[in-house]
Amino acid sequence: MKVETLAIHAGRSHDAGSGGLREPLQLSTTFERGADGAYPQGYYYSRAGNPNRTSLERAVAALEGGADAVAFASGSAATLAVFAQTAARGRIVCSTDCYHGTARQLREIVPGWGVEVVFVDTTDLVEVERALGTGASLLWFETPSNPLLKVCDIAALVELAHAKGALLGCDNTFASPILQRPIAFGADIVMHSTTKYFGGHSDVLGGIVVLREGLEATQGIRDYQGTAGSVPSPFDCWLLMRSLPTLPYRVRAQAANALAVAGFLNAHRRVEGVYYPGLVDHPGHAIAARQMQDGFGGMLSMQVRGGVEDAMAVAARVKLFTRATSLGGVESLIEHRASMEGPHTRTPLNLLRLSIGLEHASDLIEDLDQALG
Ligand code: PLP
Repeated sequence: MKVETLAIHAGRSHDAGSGGLREPLQLSTTFERGADGAYPQGYYYSRAGNPNRTSLERAVAALEGGADAVAFASGSAATLAVFAQTAARGRIVCSTDCYHGTARQLREIVPGWGVEVVFVDTTDLVEVERALGTGASLLWFETPSNPLLKVCDIAALVELAHAKGALLGCDNTFASPILQRPIAFGADIVMHSTTKYFGGHSDVLGGIVVLREGLEATQGIRDYQGTAGSVPSPFDCWLLMRSLPTLPYRVRAQAANALAVAGFLNAHRRVEGVYYPGLVDHPGHAIAARQMQDGFGGMLSMQVRGGVEDAMAVAARVKLFTRATSLGGVESLIEHRASMEGPHTRTPLNLLRLSIGLEHASDLIEDLDQALG
């Protein structure tokens, strides 16, 4: 089945009680036990399981081509669950360019478990192989990455990781399963901040981990979800299911808009550089064209000519874009990234990150043109 069809039908059932097309929101925290002590519907307590969460997990697993999916209260909770359940054997190797909150978990929490963490440029396969060495348990990366839109070769990283006995996990938040499905290239684990494109309307926080068929770590991640209790609320799951049917259409339109905006910025005299894998001069363009379909995503970054004040001044002048963090919503956002990331940032000080929404591309371009001056 194609993704458009899966996005509408996977994981869903009509309400058996009323015949309603939409699943009801199940707010019960506890579920009735049968006289024989069994739980006839499979649910007993909402931290352990809830029908709205089950539907979401089934739908996302189907979209990513995974065997199972485990939903969490946020993308960060999802990442930490993966680290907790895969790190025990030794070392985590992670992309240097990644979501700053992920890097923070790997700097501030994971080493406390006795796990070694190594950051490398995951676009450099020689460096990755060296960092994996022996005893690595997990290779973790983003493609395209946040905020520099670096593109990693998923199939090549799978080969390297598996040759060294490590699992391979990909944060697929920027691409979404509409544009890229890492499990098809051999990835073991795919993670999303569902706060972003899955939610799509900047009104729900969530995360999800998708596991390939036959992965040993799956049960551990499932158990961790209930034990740690970092579960999404039934309403958050319901909202995500509400957003899912339009995901393919939103993501493709956002990617088309982003390509138009990136082309415009690339030719602008006040722009020093544009980071967007859809541009043919992007160093990862050929790889992205091979492993992504239907577009290169709705995220891009640009370096404004000059310094931090010049970048801030451009962000201050936008009228249609909103100055805010996060991404993947229907509205376009602009953000001075380094000042958001804090003291450990490696992001250039004149860099603005743009999340391109569903407004008309010409209006977005007009707004950026007047803001750049
Ligand atoms: N991964 C990426 C690529 C992100 O951009 C983010 C958040 O911005 C996260 C993970 C963390 O997700 P959340 O904010 O839902 O915890």
